[in-house]
Amino acid sequence: MAQSLIPFPSTNHPNVPISQRWIAFKVIHKSGGPSWAVVDASTYELHPAASAYLHYLLGSARSTNTIRAYAQRPAAFFTWLGSARLDWTDGVPVVSRFIRELAVSALSASEGTAEYREPRYRSGKTMNQYAAAITQFYMWAARSDLISEKTAAGFYETRIAYGFSGDRLLPGQVSKARAVRVKEVEEAPKLIDETAVESLLGTIANRRDRFLVALMLETGVRIGEALGLRTEDLHLLHDSRALKCASAGPHIHVRRRQNPNAALSKSSKPRTVPVTEAVCTLYYLYLKDRIDRLAHDPSPMVFVNLYSRAHAGEAVKYSNAVKMFYRTSGRAAGEPAHDKTHSGHPLETCRRAGPGRPGTARKPQRCLPTGVRARHRPGSPRRRRRRQVR
Ligand SMILES: [Zn+2]
Repeated sequence: MAQSLIPFPSTNHPNVPISQRWIAFKVIHKSGGPSWAVVDASTYELHPAASAYLHYLLGSARSTNTIRAYAQRPAAFFTWLGSARLDWTDGVPVVSRFIRELAVSALSASEGTAEYREPRYRSGKTMNQYAAAITQFYMWAARSDLISEKTAAGFYETRIAYGFSGDRLLPGQVSKARAVRVKEVEEAPKLIDETAVESLLGTIANRRDRFLVALMLETGVRIGEALGLRTEDLHLLHDSRALKCASAGPHIHVRRRQNPNAALSKSSKPRTVPVTEAVCTLYYLYLKDRIDRLAHDPSPMVFVNLYSRAHAGEAVKYSNAVKMFYRTSGRAAGEPAHDKTHSGHPLETCRRAGPGRPGTARKPQRCLPTGVRARHRPGSPRRRRRRQVR
């Protein structure tokens, strides 16, 4: 049998606990905000290193969803380590072996289906997300003196690309690449056409949610950015100079700040995104509902609860928005907008559909049923890739 050239780490470390199952666990931090920890599935004992890392992420103002992802992936890694009887401080050989095993282990089939289904495997993109999260954890571990500099250095390869001019060697460009990575098959982003948008908006029960979906579709803002909007961020007139803003045309400002509904803008850089008149119209319709339904309305937030008496006037939470997307996707089953093939998350398609995030085209895409034809912006392959990665 051919021998592997990759040195496999030794499997008989003395102080390795056997087969503990670690899970990502939602916790309420002392400061009051939600966060995540990695705990033992049966005893709820904290994983010291992983939980310290998540604590560090919370301190560096990462969004709760980012922290959740950075809890789930190391949790899977530490669970695997126990059953493989390996020590995480060995670094790259252990991580690359984990990623390789992850690639060949099939995803568990959904419960309750008796018929035979082809086994499904994680995509290259998902495995790179695992590799990236675990690499970041190791970088933190090196800064915290939990692993040696040498072990940490193994996680990045330095590449020097030289150029030639005639017979002269030009100075090389130095770049760093992650050592543990997987080849990805690039898929074109799924586009949503005018008819699908029309029927999607038609299935949404109320004006507030219709405005939310239209805003996300037209501007490409993330759900956290949309739910974190305040009325002062909406400059929907053609001229906003009276509001001391020089940006021309109707637009919104996306800013990162602390919000009562814990919505967080992923990017810390503020930006403006132009909006179409259709979005403005939908906002005014929602505003009318808001004035009609709320007698007392001191909230500065754009998206507030109007339709439940108990929480009327409070900022809409992420979990409620997700429920709305699932409800809508149930009603409009079969539409491409609700295709759950990617991550199973209906927000994903909305988020990917429009321009307007940093590094992408800033012109609003007219895809609402206003009689204006959708403008095709295929973008360069590189731009498309960037949009997908974000
Ligand atoms: Zn403005």
